[in-house]
Amino acid sequence: MTSVGTAKKLYLSSGNPGKLREFRALAAAAHSNLELALLPQFAALPEFPEAAPTFAENAAGKALYYSRACTDLVFSDDSGLVVPALGGEPGVHSARYAGLGASNDQKISKLLAALRGRKGAERSAYFVCVIAVAQMGRVIDVVSEKVDGEIAEAPRGSGGFGYDPVFYFPALGKTFAELPAPEKNARSHRGKAFRRLMEVLES
Ligand code: IMP
Repeated sequence: MTSVGTAKKLYLSSGNPGKLREFRALAAAAHSNLELALLPQFAALPEFPEAAPTFAENAAGKALYYSRACTDLVFSDDSGLVVPALGGEPGVHSARYAGLGASNDQKISKLLAALRGRKGAERSAYFVCVIAVAQMGRVIDVVSEKVDGEIAEAPRGSGGFGYDPVFYFPALGKTFAELPAPEKNARSHRGKAFRRLMEVLES
């Protein structure tokens, strides 16, 4: 592990600066000494196929694969929305639920159509986030967290991304898209999982 002063270096196996920003905000909110960066070799490597049937296999497979590209710690996440009444769908297919390249609006429309006429407990859902950290081909840890909610009848709010406008969080009476980012981060599957990861790495 590389140390810069008291900072520990941790690479995210992604080319997505938005994802890095989100994890950095989580680290900053927790006053973490982790120094996060995108894995520089990410774009040059063939993409890891996230084709496994579980979030954990995808996250761990990805972390292992990309960890062979450097000597520092590398972390990967896999997340998605699970609706038990739909047999767990969209699940690991959340990103491509309405086909490759479909917009968030299209994914939400497909989900609302699948739940049309369903009420109460049949609209229960949860977001899952699994984060795996690996170093030089060895998994160091895997953490998994979830947040429970319900699928709203119609989208509400303009924040967040993905399924946030229809993910209703009963404790606050709002969808995730109606929450300011710090409020979502304090409760979300990704926020909870990353805080656990920080505890593990800083202990
Ligand atoms: P991935 O973990 O980047 O593969 O994302 C999986 C997909 O799950 C995303 O494209 C979103 O559609 C959905 N998803 C994961 N986390 C969230 C969230 O916090 N809000 C809304 N949608 C999410």
